[in-house]
Amino acid sequence: MHLGLISAMEQEQTGLLALLQSPRRETCGMREYVTGMLGGTRCTCVLSRWGKVAAAATATMLIERFGVTHILFTGVAGAASRGVAVGDIVIASSLVQHDMDASPFFPRFEIPLLGVAQFAADATLSERLARAAQRFVEQDAPTLLSADERSAFSMREARVHHGIIASGDQFIGSQARLDMLREQLPGLLAVEMEGAAVAQVCHEFGLPFGVVRTISDDANEHAPVDFMRFVERVASRYTLGIVTRFCMPG
Ligand code: SAH
Repeated sequence: MHLGLISAMEQEQTGLLALLQSPRRETCGMREYVTGMLGGTRCTCVLSRWGKVAAAATATMLIERFGVTHILFTGVAGAASRGVAVGDIVIASSLVQHDMDASPFFPRFEIPLLGVAQFAADATLSERLARAAQRFVEQDAPTLLSADERSAFSMREARVHHGIIASGDQFIGSQARLDMLREQLPGLLAVEMEGAAVAQVCHEFGLPFGVVRTISDDANEHAPVDFMRFVERVASRYTLGIVTRFCMPG
């Protein structure tokens, strides 16, 4: 396995890069790709930046230029279901581009001329991710944060969920917008800005992929003011913990 690891924000990627053994750097298309070993798994890590185009370009480059055989996208997302809370982990079962609408020519959400609206994540990768995430929340997460930090971010004990993630070129920070998406996409668990773009590229290249997101906000008007601090203090350590357990199941 040669794993492509995409993160959207620098804070999410820092810890991963520090763990990479014998790193080799290469810049192309305004992005730096760092290839090295993570517990016996060959990995290429890259920062996509935010949004669908950025994520799609990055995934394509990972496949075509770096020859990755699998892709994992790690990052943060807004909660889109009542059972999903800040600090929980969502693993995508399938992904949809919520801002794709070529109706009346094609059904809402369907990618024109591809005939797909929801892209299924790879079942084997996702199961392995779920096991890594579950072990992480049971064994590592409780010791990572102090009680004060937990209460500052209004976090309860983390849960791992598996379900639909919707992506679009829009930060969802409105209850009305969120309610509309939930109505249109039954079973929706989280919203973000990249996953379904990586999913489309992987579908087109026949590459297995998985998406794992730590919930950072409720995708409504109360999305935490302290977003960047959450990413640094919580999400980046969650990503690192889950990816480490994924690469070193032990
Ligand atoms: N409030 C933040 C915005 C970050 S959104 C800030 O001030 O910086 C950027 C990243 O977080 C994207 O990579 C996206 O995938 C993810 N994300 C987190 N919550 C989201 C939400 N509610 N809607 C859309 N994307 C979200």
